[in-house]
Amino acid sequence: MSGQSGGEAAEAELRQLVATGGQILYQQGLTDYLGHCSARVPGTDRVVIKPKHSKTVRSPGELGSADMVVIDLDGNLVEGTDAPPAERFIHTEIYRSRPDVQAVVHTHQRAATLLGVMGGDLLPVLHVPAVLTDGGTMPTWPCPLLVTSRELGKDMAASLGAAGLCHLQGHGIVSAAADVRGATVTAIALEQLAEANLTILQTGLKPRVITAAELEELRGTVAAIDGRWAYYVQQLGGAA
Ligand SMILES: [Zn+2]
Repeated sequence: MSGQSGGEAAEAELRQLVATGGQILYQQGLTDYLGHCSARVPGTDRVVIKPKHSKTVRSPGELGSADMVVIDLDGNLVEGTDAPPAERFIHTEIYRSRPDVQAVVHTHQRAATLLGVMGGDLLPVLHVPAVLTDGGTMPTWPCPLLVTSRELGKDMAASLGAAGLCHLQGHGIVSAAADVRGATVTAIALEQLAEANLTILQTGLKPRVITAAELEELRGTVAAIDGRWAYYVQQLGGAA
């Protein structure tokens, strides 16, 4: 790795992961020009994040690693020329409150957002999404405001608590995980499970819910995140 320190190499890899996560979320229809993915650079207060949409920032599906910007935990731009997202405080305040979280995804994905608006349960009715969303565990932050300040971000992060997912009611969702692959794949699984739950609510039929014991057994048999990530990368037309 001549000419590049270990830290720089790690950050370069994170830039690629964040860009790819953004491309996947866009390709899967979970974002449009709004929504963003980020990663904390381990051991630092640096956060790699997709830039705010503007006249100079292309579609999330076309943004590469060089387009990503870096902010600090106060939300200040420390690397790059494009502005960071207005709602960067979603990311920074989760990183402040959750040392275990290294990646955050924020979207306005349709089904999960609607389910949050209605206060509907995210019942674990489909085996893979149920495992990936931890049995449908999902708290709600009852606030539709844009998260454009540290105070709002802190309040939202308090609602997230120790969970991996949170409804931002009347707004969208966040997915927080140990890496970009996990945060991205979990957001996709959430949308699949939310779509199923919306259909259940619409039909009024009583679903067969997967039990806690079955979920426990499934955790040992459902394939790991990496394989799913590779699949979604392939959908982009790139190498896994
Ligand atoms: Zn938002």
